[in-house]
Amino acid sequence: MARRALITGITGQDGSYLAEFLLDQGYEVYGLARGQANPRVSRLRKFLQDVQFVGGDLLDQGSLISAVEKVQPDEVYNLGAISFVPMSWEQAELTAEVTGMGVLRMLEAIRVCSGISSSRTAAGSGQIRFYQASSSEMFGQVRETPQTEITPFHPRSPYGVAKAYGHFLTQNYRESYGMYAVSGILFNHESPRRGAEFVTRKVSLGVAKIKLGLASELRLGNMEARRDWGYAGDYVRGMHLMLQADTPEDYVIGTGRTHTVRDLVEAAFAAAGLDWERHVVGDQTLHRPAEVDLLCADPKKARVQLGWEPSVAFEELITMMVESDIKLLSNGGDPDQ
Ligand code: NDP
Ligand code: GDP
Repeated sequence: MARRALITGITGQDGSYLAEFLLDQGYEVYGLARGQANPRVSRLRKFLQDVQFVGGDLLDQGSLISAVEKVQPDEVYNLGAISFVPMSWEQAELTAEVTGMGVLRMLEAIRVCSGISSSRTAAGSGQIRFYQASSSEMFGQVRETPQTEITPFHPRSPYGVAKAYGHFLTQNYRESYGMYAVSGILFNHESPRRGAEFVTRKVSLGVAKIKLGLASELRLGNMEARRDWGYAGDYVRGMHLMLQADTPEDYVIGTGRTHTVRDLVEAAFAAAGLDWERHVVGDQTLHRPAEVDLLCADPKKARVQLGWEPSVAFEELITMMVESDIKLLSNGGDPDQ
């Protein structure tokens, strides 16, 4: 019988790549769909016809229990979140509820549906394997670099704090109930499907607009921040590998290379044959109340224990995104789709 996967956040960047990957592996894929007529679900149905949708929301405990009861999944991937860092200051409580408490609700749904008693402390219960989308934003103000699975956390945004809660809770359910529950501490990963608000996509879309004469400038915040940027298609393979391991453990996934936002801008404009200094304008209003200055992964554990490796380098990724956006806009496409 085909293995069944339930994905929250199916309409996001990673959800679509993960769904494609799991369908290719022969899984039956179910996506948790939020809202009455979510337009992103309608769009997804068109290009991922084999995904089945089940209603539910990370804010609603009962809906998650119903979804798990209905799907009877072998694996649950919890990708749903308020994921944009600046929004987490504007809607801090909602971020805590979705990105943090949503993890508790999903773990509880699995615990209840697996018949695991809340007073039980013995290990080894339940069949459902759980993946939590943890984030390098938990490291925040880094105390060591590169960052590993045991680097201490000092989150710098309500998003990072909410992710840290979800991370520790996932560990706690593993230790308390013996559940197969793991966290992937994923560093920034991008693609032509990345949300337009994140800096890589904002830059690739900005470059495409300038190249096509649709805009003349691109406004950006802190150009000195450093990130370890990889390709989303590679990172969803890592999520799946984590749930296939004999023992549940947490893993860092990243490339081990770090670049500044300035490097990103230079690479993106160069990919379109443009001079970035003629178009990029600094904008103080885009700076954050607290910044994460430097992120760089040490993905050794994932490489050694899971055999995971990234396949797309930084320059290749940025070129892919710029070329994709030039094509999209040339054909009159909508960047938010
Ligand atoms: P996206 O922002 O693209 O997707 C977020 C998803 O969360 C959407 O599908 C959205 O669905 C869903 N969602 C929002 N609110 C709720 C809710 N109340 N109930 C259920 N679902 C909800 O994120 P990515 O695909 O980029 O990232 C996937 C996960 O990985 C996220 O948890 C993110 O925080 C984490 N992560 C991402 C990194 C990255 O670089 N991309 C790095 C590290 C971690 P809807 O259509 O309903 O709005
Ligand atoms: P994050 O690492 O999850 O916050 O991913 P983002 O892509 O949103 O931001 C990456 C880095 O780019 C952060 O350090 C931002 O401060 C920096 N940055 C600079 N200008 C911008 C901008 O205009 N938009 C965004 N989103 N980030 C910017």
